[in-house]
Amino acid sequence: MTPINLLADVDLTKATLQKLQDTLFDKKGITVEVLRTDLIHPVISGNKWFKLKYHLEEAIKQQQKGMVSIGGAYSNHLLAIACCCYIAGLQSIGIIRGEEPEDYSPTLLQAKQYGMQLHFVSRDQYKNKEKLQSESESRYPGFYWINEGGQSAMGVKGAAEIMDLLTVNNYTHILCAVGTGTMMAGLMNSVKPYQQVCGIPVLKISDHKNNNVLAFITKNSKHSNFSLVYDFHEGGYAKKTESLIQFMNALYIQYQLPTDFVYTAKLFNAVYALTGQSFFPMHSKVLVIHSGGLQGNRSLPNKSLVFHD
Ligand SMILES: *Cc1c(COP(=O)(O)O)cnc(C)c1O
Repeated sequence: MTPINLLADVDLTKATLQKLQDTLFDKKGITVEVLRTDLIHPVISGNKWFKLKYHLEEAIKQQQKGMVSIGGAYSNHLLAIACCCYIAGLQSIGIIRGEEPEDYSPTLLQAKQYGMQLHFVSRDQYKNKEKLQSESESRYPGFYWINEGGQSAMGVKGAAEIMDLLTVNNYTHILCAVGTGTMMAGLMNSVKPYQQVCGIPVLKISDHKNNNVLAFITKNSKHSNFSLVYDFHEGGYAKKTESLIQFMNALYIQYQLPTDFVYTAKLFNAVYALTGQSFFPMHSKVLVIHSGGLQGNRSLPNKSLVFHD
């Protein structure tokens, strides 16, 4: 675990580009590069920083005592909030899905180290997000509320800045993992009209025409050159298959590229599968956004992965 006093602030220059060299990509005549936003900070990883930054600014401006949000026991989002608040000198409260466990997950223990107060609610109570928000507003006055996963217009605004990490942007396709769709909408707001943004939902979504993710994206971006490819959820949110874990290990061995089974492994798996299906025309230049967030991996049995977070 990163000792608290060794934390450096977010360093955007660390978000390097990594080219994936593979005979499959050569055969299909495409290039694939990865934008490593996972490297900007050891804890406030990847897209979470971008989605939180304007909220943090706003909470400080409003002179709030701290921030409050909700998530699961392995939430990248809550850990990022805990760490951001710690660095910013704010308090933080995490409302956690499910009864208080006897043994806290490593993510929750780390969030606690950053001073986050943890409150557990039943899975039933957790379903009613609006009620959780209104209750927390009266229960925790002076705390700035952030939606689950940072889903918000301000989150979209911050996520748009991910594209600013690039010095050269001549890609034809930009691919990202999709949870709430906040990052994807942000990316869509900062790409060029000819660039196609392709999102890989990590949740199982059965109605492809009418769903919350699509509605949020289209409400928050005017960019029409985008697609959502719904086939790579591997059973649903935080669900996994043995072959996905094997794929993560292979990806790490070949490229020293760490992924998590909740988000980025599903994304990279989609990149390979879509390439195989000739989804990308010849000469495509594909950019894959590595959005960080390895917390989910801490729920796996020891030694499942050849790398550690
Ligand atoms: C939270 C998270 C996402 C989902 O981002 P949305 O903006 O909610 O779609 C994607 N990748 C990683 C690694 C994450 O932690």
